[in-house]
Amino acid sequence: MSLSKSKYCSGIQCMKILWLDKNKIEERKELNESVLSTGNLVHEVAKYLFGNHVNIEFNENLNEMISNTYWALDSYKNIVITEASFNFNNNFCSVDILKKENNTYELYEVKSSTETKDIYLKDISYQYYVLTNLGLNVSKCYLIHLNRNYERIGLLELDKLFKLNDITDIIKDLQNEVKNNIDNINEYLKQENEPISDINMHCISPYDCPYFEYCTKNIEKPNVFNIRDMHANKKFKLFNENKYKYEDLLKEDIDNKYKQQIEFELYNKEPYINKEKIDEFLNTLKEPLYFLDFETYQQPIPLFDHVKPYMQIPFQYSLHYIENNELKHKEFLGDGINDPRRELALRLVSDIPDNVTVLAYNMMFEKMVIKSLSELFSDLSEHLMKIYDNMRDLMIPFKNRDYYCKEMKGSYSIKYVLPALFSDDPSLDYHNLDMVHNGSEAMNSYSNLKNLEEEERNKLRYNMLKYCELDTYAMVKIYEKLKEL
Ligand code: SF4
Repeated sequence: MSLSKSKYCSGIQCMKILWLDKNKIEERKELNESVLSTGNLVHEVAKYLFGNHVNIEFNENLNEMISNTYWALDSYKNIVITEASFNFNNNFCSVDILKKENNTYELYEVKSSTETKDIYLKDISYQYYVLTNLGLNVSKCYLIHLNRNYERIGLLELDKLFKLNDITDIIKDLQNEVKNNIDNINEYLKQENEPISDINMHCISPYDCPYFEYCTKNIEKPNVFNIRDMHANKKFKLFNENKYKYEDLLKEDIDNKYKQQIEFELYNKEPYINKEKIDEFLNTLKEPLYFLDFETYQQPIPLFDHVKPYMQIPFQYSLHYIENNELKHKEFLGDGINDPRRELALRLVSDIPDNVTVLAYNMMFEKMVIKSLSELFSDLSEHLMKIYDNMRDLMIPFKNRDYYCKEMKGSYSIKYVLPALFSDDPSLDYHNLDMVHNGSEAMNSYSNLKNLEEEERNKLRYNMLKYCELDTYAMVKIYEKLKEL
């Protein structure tokens, strides 16, 4: 197996990942596609950081990419090449951006994150190893990542959108380590029988391992990995001390909320309901009530003015409200092309009076959205901030565990609370929706709207509206359930 920069990084995380890639690839659970497309987009834009450049097109035949690279390098004294490709001793790499000036080279690695991570340095040190062993004089190494503070106004300014970090000295210091790692990986991969590897923090860091399900398939369930919100360090520690079964965990010094989750599931306990506390909560809500839910998405590369990389951009909301004992509904969904925020904010202030109680589920998120809209649109700010001040959180009774049952599995997210409270109601089951069943599908759908033909777009829009509507309808039903108590 020849190495590449991504394989080298996987091998650093855990060599068994590479062994499984080589011998049991069918067990691999692939990475979410939107993460990959985000990375690709950032790479494509970053290629223009130095203006004109020669791009080495991807080719399944890597030798073709390598010979095209040498052709470009031989043809120009000074040149910027993107995806310049090299191979040294079966170690292949494509450099995101390679700048040649006379006979020295600068190597640039592009990442779609907004910060430097240790694994990026390993990635670049591998590339430096390949290039320098082929005799290239690499004078500088840079890591390029997005600048989270850059706010687009007018044309995209690439020199401000990206941050360049000179990491040459660190990369040089890592060179002995690279050689040893490559030797160790190659030796490890010669094993014919499946190697034993302990599961530990390396299974989730720096990346979630695609073989975690495979490597834990023989561990009795439920176990410590099913405990909600417990820190991963603690989980692996308990697991490696052989204290991973629910019965064993009850004897450990762990937080009461974890013990509650275990006891309810293990002993099939009846729901716990603290009516007094729930009553106290309900008394803080003054009718009329408005139930609000936003959907947001993020752009790594800001497409609109006043957007920063990965900022939450609201594009949709659903609003249920009870007027004269009748349940009514309003909604908004952007067109997927233009900046949706102004129209959304205008509709919001016309749909929600400034003196009503607005319920959200996990209101910190809705408040954050409203605050950012009020900062953006000063003419609407007063009304928006009144909505902000009038917000109450329907999550509170569940977060405080004043209402808890085993089906919630330690979670107070609406996606767990709803089926726990209404297990027999198909109209409240997200699985019965078409096309869009959760927030990330809504987010991806919105990003994709502009690429669809009218008929397909209308169908997707309809299903996006249905999804968001269910979010607030669910809140209404949860509120009614609390009142019944
Ligand atoms: S789950 Fe853990 S042990 Fe198994 S391959 Fe992945 S990182 Fe290695």
